[in-house]
This record gives sequence, C-alpha cells and structure tokens, in this order.
Amino acid sequence: MFKEFIQGLSITFKHLLPGHSTTVQYPDERLTPSPRFRGLHRLVPTQDREKCVACYLCPTVCPAKCITVESAENEKGEKYPQVYEIDLLRCIFCGYCVEACPVEALEMTAEYELANFHREDFKFNKKRLLK
Ligand code: SF4
Ligand code: SF4
Repeated sequence: MFKEFIQGLSITFKHLLPGHSTTVQYPDERLTPSPRFRGLHRLVPTQDREKCVACYLCPTVCPAKCITVESAENEKGEKYPQVYEIDLLRCIFCGYCVEACPVEALEMTAEYELANFHREDFKFNKKRLLK
C-alpha cells in the first residue's frame, strides 16, 4: 500500500521537473497542430480566380447546412461561385465538404484562433476564405 503511494507521488513529482510540462504559455507559445487537424477552411486559388467550379457538392453534403453557394458564369462560360460563404458558428469541422469537392478547391488549414466579438464575423465569405 505504502509502496503504491510512493510510486504515485513519484509520477506526480516527475511532471513538475523541467521538460515534463504538458502545457504551454499561450499566446506566447503555440503548439503545432497535428497534420490531420481540421481548422479554418480555405478556398484554393488558381492564377486568376478560385479553383471552385460552383458544383454545389459541398453544401449538399454539409451536415450542418452552413455553406452557401451561388453560381454564375464568367465571360469564358466557366462556372464560378459568385457567392461562397461558410457560417463557422454552425460548422462542426467534420471535413465532409473537403472530401466531397471533385476539384480539390477547398481545404482545411491549421488555423484555430477563430474568436470574434460579433456573430456576423463568423460568416466567412469568398474573399476571407481565399486569404
Ligand atoms: S466542415 Fe463539415 S460542417 Fe463544416 S462546412 Fe464542411 S461539411 Fe459543413
Ligand atoms: S464542392 Fe468544391 S467545386 Fe463544388 S462548390 Fe464546393 S468548393 Fe466548389
């Protein structure tokens, strides 16, 4: 009984030694998220426009129904999203939208600092998603 008590205490005190800390001094220090982390979305740009062809697959698969797409055609007859918006207050960061995209026009970044003061600031439009 006493032996187990000492073993438990030694494990606890080991974590107090330098180099064994499991927390960081955020925001001065930041952890690097795993490569599989699903953070803020990003619309992938090509040379002169976004890669998205406004096929409506991502809003169709989105379980939270938080993607709004409105398509239009440019002068070359190519479809593009005139409106592309994601409401991050409803998004559950499942990544289905990225998986569904047939042209890899959408990706999820490692950006996790998404705090804002106003509800409308959580609606990311095309301009913000292309950044
Ligand atoms: S991550 Fe999931 S919930 Fe968020 S926009 Fe994509 S499909 Fe919708
Ligand atoms: S699935 Fe891809 S190409 Fe289709 S609307 Fe969504 S981002 Fe655009």
